[in-house]
Amino acid sequence: MSANESTQERLGQGVMSTGEGMRIFPDVEACIDCGGCVVACKRTWDVPVDDQRIDITTMLEGVEGESGFNGQQVSAIEEGMSPGETSLPMQCYHCENAPCVSVCPTNALQKKDNGFVEVVDDLCIGCQYCLSACPFGAPQFPESNEGLTAVVGSGGTMDKCTGCEERQDVGKGPACAEECATDAILVGSSGEIADELEKRDSGAFFNDTAMEIIFGDDTGMFDR
Ligand code: SF4
Ligand code: SF4
Repeated sequence: MSANESTQERLGQGVMSTGEGMRIFPDVEACIDCGGCVVACKRTWDVPVDDQRIDITTMLEGVEGESGFNGQQVSAIEEGMSPGETSLPMQCYHCENAPCVSVCPTNALQKKDNGFVEVVDDLCIGCQYCLSACPFGAPQFPESNEGLTAVVGSGGTMDKCTGCEERQDVGKGPACAEECATDAILVGSSGEIADELEKRDSGAFFNDTAMEIIFGDDTGMFDR
């Protein structure tokens, strides 16, 4: 298979490129709340039954959207219209301006040069500041009674989506994105994701503040 054919196949899967500069972002128009991404993540990383690194949040459940506004929820909300039922894969988006990194007092959360936001387990003291700072509910604290957490009663070492960095290192997409039947989890550069959403005529959904947290200076690439 040629490199171009390989890229085309990836585009069909919603995985546009991997590695350096990678971003993860949901297409809320495509998500059907099937849970396939959650299962793929748990299976790939052996995530315990009661924990998860990705969560599907459904808003306005059972509410039918106003005609013509389903593809542009943000516009709809701004205009006071009902966007209808919307399901959103919530995971770590490896934000450009990550508030979790800013608030972590021990430098346990780090934005790496290649774009991934990683947790350094040995540095995490379980204070959960990142949980309060993240607007997307990504940080998780699996139950633990060990170490300092036993003293302050704050749960275990922080865990979250890793962006499947190890898979990306060998040219594979994140397990959630490759498993998603409707290609609702987009992976690629900011520009690739913006282009794909435009091609699908899907809204970026998040408000301006959230977009700037996730994409920083690239936010202007998104037609909202
Ligand atoms: S703020 Fe939340 S979504 Fe953004 S990098 Fe930190 S944990 Fe991930
Ligand atoms: S819980 Fe851990 S990762 Fe989160 S802010 Fe505290 S030290 Fe940093």
